[in-house]
Amino acid sequence: MTSAVSAPTATSSPATGLVCRACGAEYPLIAQHACYECFGPLEVAYDQAALARVTREQIEAGPQNIWRYAGLLPAGQDPATRVTLDPGLTPLVSAPALAAAVGLRAPLWVKDDSANPTHSFKDRVVSVALTAARGLGFTRFACASTGNLANSVAAHAARAGAPSIVFIPSDLEQGKVITTAVYGGELVAIEGSYDDVNRLCGELVETDEFEDTAFVNVNVRPFYAEGSKTLGYEVAEQLGWRIPAQVVIPMASGELLTKVDKAFSELVEAGLVEAPEGGWKVFGAQSAGCNPIATALQAGTDEIVPVKPTGIAKSLNIGDPAAGAYAIEAVRRTGGWMDYADDDEIRAGIRLLAETTGVFAETAGGTTVAVLKKLVESGKLDPEKETVVYNTGEGLKTLDAVAEQVGPTHRIKPSLRGAREAGLLG
Ligand SMILES: *Cc1c(COP(=O)(O)O)cnc(C)c1O
Ligand SMILES: [Zn+2]
Repeated sequence: MTSAVSAPTATSSPATGLVCRACGAEYPLIAQHACYECFGPLEVAYDQAALARVTREQIEAGPQNIWRYAGLLPAGQDPATRVTLDPGLTPLVSAPALAAAVGLRAPLWVKDDSANPTHSFKDRVVSVALTAARGLGFTRFACASTGNLANSVAAHAARAGAPSIVFIPSDLEQGKVITTAVYGGELVAIEGSYDDVNRLCGELVETDEFEDTAFVNVNVRPFYAEGSKTLGYEVAEQLGWRIPAQVVIPMASGELLTKVDKAFSELVEAGLVEAPEGGWKVFGAQSAGCNPIATALQAGTDEIVPVKPTGIAKSLNIGDPAAGAYAIEAVRRTGGWMDYADDDEIRAGIRLLAETTGVFAETAGGTTVAVLKKLVESGKLDPEKETVVYNTGEGLKTLDAVAEQVGPTHRIKPSLRGAREAGLLG
């Protein structure tokens, strides 16, 4: 940068405390994720006036990563305090061929978060969570993971020179075990489901031995969740400070979906973006093997019945989703919908996305594209309105999903004759 004038940067956090999403009880900015009064989940609250002071110019002059939105985040205003791989500003890919394939007549975009440092959107949430955690005095980093979170926590700890201990279900894809273990932290495979892993982490965090440990999605979860907002801010900025009419988002705990919606609301409230005519609609995608949020919404209830997850979309396999009720609220309020795709549809979704956009998604992305197609077919998604579909992870981590379906289209001898016999020369 050659500019002599540096943009004003907020040096203090706009966050004022934690507030219970269920009963509204207020708490200071501490490492706590559930309300003492009602056990509801806690969320970061902000000084709205501080958010409204953030300008487009300030953001645009910021770094080429999520920290350009530091004025809207609960931690990391001072660059020296960040525990980060500097994720974000991933491509927003124009996808006209995918639009045509699924029957959309308006612009369609793929927000490709596989381009993050550890190849999933989890780098966003981990950067914010660990930066907040270090500020709160934690020295060891941990998580309960369905795969991508494990990659990201282990890599962030390695970069920061801090110890990490990551907990995963023992049946995770090899591509996610290796891409975690390589960073050198402790990696604990648990003989159980993600929900078992998460429950154990909730118990460990209460022990003296783990007093120094921040579990990104347990005791510092409110900060973690805020990192997902950057997936909303970025899409709006990349569209030239506009909010798309429709977004389709994969759901595990349902947190990402609620935070993209929150990000859009904040941008409007802060005067950074005008709401689109008719507002925006939020759509959620799950797999048929783990669809407790989508089935509750479709049944017209808020009552989420936990399931035992099955199926290939392992990164989305949370059977007892912490933010499920809030995801349902956001989808109902905005007039969106939720649906789910089975394993064959997910494989087809991966291939369709790859063949039409050059983006190779993991199973979560295949799920979202498959659900996009269903939503157009069922008339829930308006084919005449601009739509963004989120790809949250990288296909190279879940190669097995499509390994049996794709391969060489020809096998020939190394000669012109071989090429001719295979029909390559007409
Ligand atoms: C974790 C994850 C999600 C969903 O995150 P939630 O906020 O728990 O709903 C989506 N896609 C991928 C690839 C993930 O790893
Ligand atoms: Zn409460």
